[in-house]
Amino acid sequence: MNHARQAPPPPPPPPPAGTTTTPSSPPTGSAATSQQPPGVCTPFSSQSAAFNLSLQSGGTSLPSGSLPSGGTTIPVVSAPPTVSFSLHATNPTAVPLASIIANAPSGPTSPLASTPTAGSIPPSISNAPPLPDISGFNPANYPPLDKMPDVNSPQVQQWKQEVMNSGITIPNIAPTVPGGCPANPEAATDASRCWWTCGGCTRESDIESCPDKLHWGMTYDDGPAFYTTQLLNYLDEQSLKTTFFLVGSRVISFPDIARSEYMSGHQIGVHTWSHPPLTTKTNDEVIAELGWARQAIRDVLGVTPNTMRPPYGDIDDRVRAISLALGMIPVMWTRLSPAVAFDTGDFDIQSGLTSASQVILNWQNILNNATMLDHGFLSLQHDLFQDSVDIATGYLLPDAKARGDITIEPVAMCIKRGLSNSYIETNDNKTFPPPQGDGTVTIPGDLPTATNPSATTIGALNASTTGDGSGGSGDNQGSGAIESFHMSGTIVTLTILAGILANMLTVL
Ligand SMILES: [Zn+2]
Repeated sequence: MNHARQAPPPPPPPPPAGTTTTPSSPPTGSAATSQQPPGVCTPFSSQSAAFNLSLQSGGTSLPSGSLPSGGTTIPVVSAPPTVSFSLHATNPTAVPLASIIANAPSGPTSPLASTPTAGSIPPSISNAPPLPDISGFNPANYPPLDKMPDVNSPQVQQWKQEVMNSGITIPNIAPTVPGGCPANPEAATDASRCWWTCGGCTRESDIESCPDKLHWGMTYDDGPAFYTTQLLNYLDEQSLKTTFFLVGSRVISFPDIARSEYMSGHQIGVHTWSHPPLTTKTNDEVIAELGWARQAIRDVLGVTPNTMRPPYGDIDDRVRAISLALGMIPVMWTRLSPAVAFDTGDFDIQSGLTSASQVILNWQNILNNATMLDHGFLSLQHDLFQDSVDIATGYLLPDAKARGDITIEPVAMCIKRGLSNSYIETNDNKTFPPPQGDGTVTIPGDLPTATNPSATTIGALNASTTGDGSGGSGDNQGSGAIESFHMSGTIVTLTILAGILANMLTVL
């Protein structure tokens, strides 16, 4: 079974009866909007199987000598096989692992520490436009929540024109049919389309790792939601920053939480409007999904993210090209092979497909793998449901902090772009340029241009499929920057400028 094609999961649990501490601004629109089937980034069954295999064959109990004094040993009580493992620290207020289970009663939600006010400037992005006034915010101005937007709307027509104006050629690749790799055997083995879902193929335009060892680009997908405030408050307490990939429908439901994420110095990226597997959608539908999510975020924050994460990691060259044409660079999570990805599996607790203890074991496998890489990594976590937030704030994050050897950062920091370069309006176009105009990435000022005789055309870029045991494909160490790129068919042609913007090539 491919989890990526499973039926939509149950909706996020509402706050318990009598709870009045939902976001400082209650979900806009009807409460029922949050009961719509939300999106989810689910792992591949093979990944979970691999982790299980790893556990059964050797377990992941860390030798006690590897832990600092005071390490906390946590007995696993809820998942076979029964194993124990050690964490460097846990949150004293952590929800017991045995209580982080499917269908657990909902706990109280946390209020936002403060409600961002219109006109504010995020402290960490000095050149940002003022936070918009959303007092007149009207969900009726957006497509129905969690449903594919109408592709015939004037907005989508405008975004289609934007794609055409980008100069980026959208490869003529037929959409896949629902059912993932087994349902699409030809596409699954067609290396030319570089379908990440079936084999982990990436292109140089994908961000999938960080250049520096043990730098962790931490990400949370599918929010904002009821328990995001709990995560936000914890992150603030611990002075941690992350990247949130937002579902447009959730932004409409929880605009103040999205604004709080942004104002607190977290990075915001796009995660579609209704969270479909994008390779199953037509070009127009992909444009509508990305366009409406981008629009919702821009309306609420005043800035436009230049990164996106495809739901389920479901991306191929067609979806890549559309994303880039709309100014959004795909951000994946690190994947060493089709069977080993840096996915905590936290989303599957809610459905009962996995256990909290398994997620912690997954986490330890991620760290074990990370220590063997010569570069950093990106992970996959979620903030849609309480259980994944509970396990992050109670276990994974305290452990990561207590280890002392991991640098926890938003993706933008992990790849050395900086927060301001995460948005179209504040990007300096030097270190994280979005594709613009005719598809040429604008590098202004004193930097060479495509017509500069010093520019060197590298030519066709081969797809890189991870899994060769070399530690991922994000380890290009060439110095230089991508000055421009064009996508035509399955060929990506890059013009590389030698000697500038060192370290940038690894991820763009
Ligand atoms: Zn997702």
